[in-house]
Amino acid sequence: MRLELSNNPNLLLFTSNLFPATFNAIGLKHYAIIGIGGNVGESVLLFERVIRYLQQGKRINVIQTAPLLKNPPFGFTEQPDFINSVIKIETNLSPFQLLKYLLWVEKRFGRKRTFKNAPRTLDLDIIFYDKLNLRTKRLIVPHPHFHERESVMIPLRFLKD
Ligand code: ADP
Ligand code: MG
Repeated sequence: MRLELSNNPNLLLFTSNLFPATFNAIGLKHYAIIGIGGNVGESVLLFERVIRYLQQGKRINVIQTAPLLKNPPFGFTEQPDFINSVIKIETNLSPFQLLKYLLWVEKRFGRKRTFKNAPRTLDLDIIFYDKLNLRTKRLIVPHPHFHERESVMIPLRFLKD
């Protein structure tokens, strides 16, 4: 299979044990697509730990992950390349509960908030939540700008429906 990566030589699509992967659905009420990203430390190993961690909890059930995309930073560019992927989950959490939980998981895996577009160990964003359209101060869904981000759009192509 040849992968069209928008003719950009800076982008590298690759796989690991859990990216891509599929898991059984257990029939939770809602589904969401989560963007995962990071550029500090061993991102791939960390992402695999995050998937196992999410799978252990009762709040969400991971049903699919996409391949990983290595891509250059934007905004603040004097920092290492990012690794990104997307994760499809089922959940019983509301959008705000899900955001709170994801921010907590980021923290648990060592994220320190410094400045906008700064290097980070783990970024977990809600890209979609069912067919919800929401614009509040704390949460915007679908995630703003995801259309313009190859870091989301390329891995997204690998998720089923
Ligand atoms: P970014 O992901 O844009 O680089 P952060 O991860 O630091 O930035 O997130 C900053 C804030 O963005 C979060 O505290 C959250 O309140 C807000 N936010 C708004 N919409 C979303 C979303 N769809 N997913 C995750 N965070 C969001
Ligand atoms: Mg974020």
